[in-house]
Amino acid sequence: MNILEKIENHGKMQGDNIVMEYGAEKLTYSELWEKSDRLAGWISERLGDSKKPVLVYGHKHPMMLVCFLACVKSGRAYCPVDISMPEQRIGDIAEAVDNDIILGTEENTHNLKGYVSLDEIDRISKEHTPVDYSKRVSSEDTYYIIFTSGSTGKPKGVEISLENLNNFTDWSVSLVEDSQEGCHDEMRDINSRKSQLTFMNQAPFSFDLSVMDLYTCLAMGGRLYSIDKKTQQDPKLLMDELRKGEINVWVSTPSFAEMTMANKEFNGEEFDSINTFLFCGEKLGADTGKRLQELFPNSGIYNTYGPTESTVAVTGIKLDDSLFGKGDLPIGRPKPGTEIYIFTEDGSIAKEGEKGEIAIAGNTVSKGYFKNREKTSEVFIEDNISSFHDSKDSDETKKAMMYKTGDEGYISNGLVYCTGRIDLQIKLHGYRIELGDIESNLKFIEGISQACVVPRRVDGKIRNLVAFVVETSDANAPRKTYDSSTAFQKRKEIRDKLKCQLPDYMVPKKIVFVDSLPMTINGKVDRKKLEAMV
Ligand code: AMP
Repeated sequence: MNILEKIENHGKMQGDNIVMEYGAEKLTYSELWEKSDRLAGWISERLGDSKKPVLVYGHKHPMMLVCFLACVKSGRAYCPVDISMPEQRIGDIAEAVDNDIILGTEENTHNLKGYVSLDEIDRISKEHTPVDYSKRVSSEDTYYIIFTSGSTGKPKGVEISLENLNNFTDWSVSLVEDSQEGCHDEMRDINSRKSQLTFMNQAPFSFDLSVMDLYTCLAMGGRLYSIDKKTQQDPKLLMDELRKGEINVWVSTPSFAEMTMANKEFNGEEFDSINTFLFCGEKLGADTGKRLQELFPNSGIYNTYGPTESTVAVTGIKLDDSLFGKGDLPIGRPKPGTEIYIFTEDGSIAKEGEKGEIAIAGNTVSKGYFKNREKTSEVFIEDNISSFHDSKDSDETKKAMMYKTGDEGYISNGLVYCTGRIDLQIKLHGYRIELGDIESNLKFIEGISQACVVPRRVDGKIRNLVAFVVETSDANAPRKTYDSSTAFQKRKEIRDKLKCQLPDYMVPKKIVFVDSLPMTINGKVDRKKLEAMV
């Protein structure tokens, strides 16, 4: 059964169960199914034969789910865009998607063209004739497109098919089932009193980590309990919300858990409903894992790893005592249907324990970046080596692909370890950022000729970003010097301009004016030297 059929089934078998709850807003399985059928009918009629993806703009409103399903039921991929994105970035994505309509569950503050408001969506999803079953996306069609930071200053859209999503959810469900089975008796009693598991949704829907909570929840007939950005940033509100939510399955970045763990009330006694922690999106520190295990001794804690380009996560491991005290935690073993390779610099496969670039082969690897062949061919390569390669479609035109992640790692005793990046992509508080993206946008600002952004690390963890900028100047003009108030003003102007182009988390905390950037012998900017200066 594919994921849509599973949701349909829940709609029939447990239609009155809540599928998503956010503040006072609640949506049941039957409402989700029926409303999305009707909205899909309208989309089909409105867009006719065009199969262009549909941008869905909003935050945590349950009608976001209705919009997602309506798009795929009408045969089109959806592209989720969160309200935290700046106008320019939304504009870039809207331009790439190039559709006549945008479905929105929040106010249209950016005056987006073709905006269908929540009121209209509400009305359509009650009144319109439902879509015909035959219109649905089929397994190889793109199901969603998630845009991530691109090194050239423009975001790139990762296309994930229905088949990719099915293969991912089959595995993510098995992790949750495994965790439920491993629960202590006492906790199993608590769970057995409930027929439905509750999943926490922390990540915005435009971040692929949300696919882990949303679709694992939908596949299992669970209840998605969504926590918005404002609540996440207020420790008191967050604790109240977590209590109210009675969450069983926690899905977040390690950074979010660390932030929550700063609150003394956050432990297994106070929050006895939480029996599973699924982490992904960035490194899970061994210290964080160990502390969490001490706080929640009866819960299953899983470290999973993967890029958006291979549908959320492809490796995973349940933490246990044997993993602690040996340095970094592994990212686990590949899921069924995935093989992990480590390539050395000369392109050969690394030996046991030898470091190299992590490449992913298998049934969750994306078909590539939306309308971006050049970028696609740089990192998606033909897979001629994986063991399930031969058993793939006999159709010669359909080539199996492998994704070169840009992550550095090694394999030891069947466990994969991720040790960092080989390029300029970083993770800051769980957000994926191409430093080149910020640098390109800095260089677009009038008066800046060169820019280099480096991470500032404390105890090995990235805390914030520092931008070194060189201003455009006449070669003969005397060197510019500013008094502190002028420099403050200039930094503010630069940051304000960047905020129009980039999400807040990508705007460097500190801006340093320099006469020139240091160079390596090869003539490249010496990033290491700059990093040592911050
Ligand atoms: P995203 O596409 O936003 O999910 O980011 C994917 C990148 O996040 C990966 O290529 C890794 O660099 C990093 N990442 C994800 N999960 C982990 C993990 N468990 N440990 C270390 N890095 C991770």
